[in-house]
Amino acid sequence: MAHTLPPLPYPTNALEPYIDAMTMEIHHGRHHKAYVDNLNKALEGHADLQNKSTIDILRNINSVPQAIRQAVINNGGGDANHTMFWQIMGPKAGGKPSGPLADDINRTFKDFATFQQQLKQAGVSRFGSGWAWLVLADGKLQIISTANQDSPYMSNQVPILGVDVWEHAYYLKYQNKRPDYIDAWWNVVNWNAVAQRYSEAKAGKAV
Ligand code: MN
Repeated sequence: MAHTLPPLPYPTNALEPYIDAMTMEIHHGRHHKAYVDNLNKALEGHADLQNKSTIDILRNINSVPQAIRQAVINNGGGDANHTMFWQIMGPKAGGKPSGPLADDINRTFKDFATFQQQLKQAGVSRFGSGWAWLVLADGKLQIISTANQDSPYMSNQVPILGVDVWEHAYYLKYQNKRPDYIDAWWNVVNWNAVAQRYSEAKAGKAV
């Protein structure tokens, strides 16, 4: 069964003025679609992998045949990363988390402002294309960054939240000002969705 592009959970202009409609349209409709199409192409003739979820494939990346592994890392990663990205953003969002996620952030990073600063730093200092992440690793929150579309799932980490720092995510509106894009991005983070991912990951579920 072919992997499919999940619909954007809100209209392309829903994240204005922080993320512009044209960026969302191209990002979801062309970039994410290309990852899905190229994942399907890479998996042609591999019925066992076609029937697995993208996340399952990434978690067991070493069992993917060498000949298609890098294509699966790039395009399966691109699919999983963007599927999460659309889910953890939304209109009328931003603010701060509450509940157990907020407690864990405060315990791990000292406070919410320090957490924001460290995630921003991870995104700003990622050279070239990639992502900055809040992941759950061995049950603990951690900030990491990955290159290209490398997925935390490949390192046995569960992505709780991630910010796409590829130029395609911000260049139309922010040009070379990646720090400004990350500052604005906090206004579209859907903390309810992030908290949901956190509690499911804590319970050992794949999210
Ligand atoms: Mn992207």
